[in-house]
Amino acid sequence: MTGRLIRGIPVSRGVAVGPALVVKWEVPTVVDHAISPAEVDAEVRRLADALAFAKERIGKVRERAAVRAGPEEARIFDAQLLILEDVELVGAAERLIRENHFSAERAFEYKMMEWRGLWSTQGSALLRDRLIDLTDVEIRVLTRLLGVDEPDVLAGHDGPVILVARDLTPSLTVQLDREAVLAIATEQGTRTSHAAILAHSIGIPAVVGLPEVLARVRTGEMVILDGWAGTLNVGPDASDIEAARSADERHRLLAHDVDEVVDLPAETTDGHRIILRANLDLPEELDAAGRGHADGIGLMRTEFLVVGRGRMPTEDEQAALYERVGKAFPQGDVVIRTFDIGGDKFPAGFRTTAEANPFLGWRAIRVCLDHPEVFRPQIRAILRARATTPVKLMIPLVTRVEEVLMTREMVLEEAEALRRSGIPAASDVPVGVMIETPAAVVQADDLAAVSDFLSVGTNDLVQYTLAVDRGNARLAARFTSHHPAILRSLAEVLRAGTAAGIEVSVCGEMASDPVSAWMLLGLGYRVLSVAPPSLTLLRWLVR
Ligand code: PEP
Ligand code: MG
Repeated sequence: MTGRLIRGIPVSRGVAVGPALVVKWEVPTVVDHAISPAEVDAEVRRLADALAFAKERIGKVRERAAVRAGPEEARIFDAQLLILEDVELVGAAERLIRENHFSAERAFEYKMMEWRGLWSTQGSALLRDRLIDLTDVEIRVLTRLLGVDEPDVLAGHDGPVILVARDLTPSLTVQLDREAVLAIATEQGTRTSHAAILAHSIGIPAVVGLPEVLARVRTGEMVILDGWAGTLNVGPDASDIEAARSADERHRLLAHDVDEVVDLPAETTDGHRIILRANLDLPEELDAAGRGHADGIGLMRTEFLVVGRGRMPTEDEQAALYERVGKAFPQGDVVIRTFDIGGDKFPAGFRTTAEANPFLGWRAIRVCLDHPEVFRPQIRAILRARATTPVKLMIPLVTRVEEVLMTREMVLEEAEALRRSGIPAASDVPVGVMIETPAAVVQADDLAAVSDFLSVGTNDLVQYTLAVDRGNARLAARFTSHHPAILRSLAEVLRAGTAAGIEVSVCGEMASDPVSAWMLLGLGYRVLSVAPPSLTLLRWLVR
């Protein structure tokens, strides 16, 4: 190989060969100027007009996304509409105009900056992913207020190109035309970023998280983007191109074989049935889990109920949601993970100081136990859903046995309280523990003795065991579940759980990766919970 190879994260399959087009779009610059008291009302109206305009435009992009990418993908833009409708945001921007005499664009920019700071500093991978949605909204509102054009990344370029950018906003991505854009390569972004999801649905090969790609590629240079392997080869020779094309062909054949097994059982040739459950970040993924014939839900993350919302979800709302998810899989287990909140992922009105190390901070079960007024309604909602469905409760980031015992005590107290109030609810619920810290691995026997099941969260376990930040692109190669320390931890947890006679599963990303999943099966794991798009590939692998 003669080219320079840059490794990133593959998010949309396929191989493309062509000239790079390096695009640098920016949020429009706002020049700071104060307004006079007489201009205040007009300025507030201007802001309202821009917000209404942005809403209408996003509505149109949403419609386009529904046609081009699908109804689930179109919901990505609901998040943007919610940002624009956020009462706190709009109210605060208006106050900046009225009380501080900011111009409308300055006030909006200021609030966006505040949100960006909050979302980026607190260690939530989900929120970091969503920063680009803020940018999308910001561009739309500011371009309207400033009377400038929205960025057009392809302006002045003919012929198909491979787009290279720091990041792409969801609305830019959904407008891209497969004829003009052969593939997308970005420096930022993760598997779950909205641009990645949209590129995949539209069918444009894409690799994200390519370190320093902007500095390493020039417009016009030939590149090969490999959306299977997650690489960008800059300046390849003819044999590289030939090799990439034949690998693409092999991958396509495999993809075809994989599609054939979608509704067959995940059973090995020697008769071992593997339980394949799905991980849900959002209830909208339930459909994909159903289509992938999941054996239940192995991890339902509940943070979306809290993150970016103006208020805490009520107990009734939660009970209805958990029941809905539980009813979708009446035969399987449905594991509801209690709030993994912390850092920025706090309910509205939750006042806390910024932490120097949010990943080592006040997170998850620590917050929940300190704030029973947040935790108890969630427990009650799970108990209510358990009355009619197979939901279970799982605790994240456990480091101490007491955390499990205290949770169990609360479960029994709330079950009794519900019984006394005559509200239909189960009298108990199976309680599982996420093994995500070295402390939990070392105490796996003790934790197994007080819980009903264990589930290994390899994303955090790798991060905490190897001291490698899971969100740091520079350390991506060091973030590996194949490290001996992780494999030994996995073996130890399985041994401890099996000795205690309880189920042990893996619900971290490791289980979604075919080679790693193979290792897990080799270690003796028989229950995996994976991202819905991985269900079929794993089924094929098992078979
Ligand atoms: C994990 O840490 O592996 C896990 C499944 O939880 P999350 O990714 O939500 O932290
Ligand atoms: Mg985790």
